[in-house]
Amino acid sequence: MGLGTYRNFAGVSVGTNFSVIQLAGRDRSGAPVWRVRCCKCGFVQPFAHSQLKNASESGYVLFCRNARCTYSKPEPVKTETLADMLRAEQRQEQLLKQQEAQLKAEADKKAAAEAALRAERARWMRYANTQIVAGAELEDILPFDRWLMQSETWKTNVLGRVGIAE
Ligand SMILES: [Zn+2]
Repeated sequence: MGLGTYRNFAGVSVGTNFSVIQLAGRDRSGAPVWRVRCCKCGFVQPFAHSQLKNASESGYVLFCRNARCTYSKPEPVKTETLADMLRAEQRQEQLLKQQEAQLKAEADKKAAAEAALRAERARWMRYANTQIVAGAELEDILPFDRWLMQSETWKTNVLGRVGIAE
């Protein structure tokens, strides 16, 4: 079987790890396919002519097809792991942002509740002061905690009755 313009790789060492045994056949385009032995594990495997050519001429790296061989192509595990790590990091960051937003919302809510309570206390003080000025007995004045339990309508009415314009 003549090789034509193709280089005869039979018996040639390619890279540091592979030695070509013989021609194995031709691929669909007519290019030679070579039977190559891995020097590390001894696994014999076919390589396309272009792969051997690139490996011997331009530093193309050949990988052994024996998955357990140290010269086999590394699994893309590292890339996936890195991508997973990045995703996990992003999730973590997102989670932190959510927690921060939640804490801020809670703090805002608490501050609003405190402000509302201060405002309510100021209303009650106006009511209580008016009662005192009007001569009411202290026990007749609704304490603040009971004031808080009254409806808004009731409180507005009381403040209206004692003449406090809000
Ligand atoms: Zn090998």
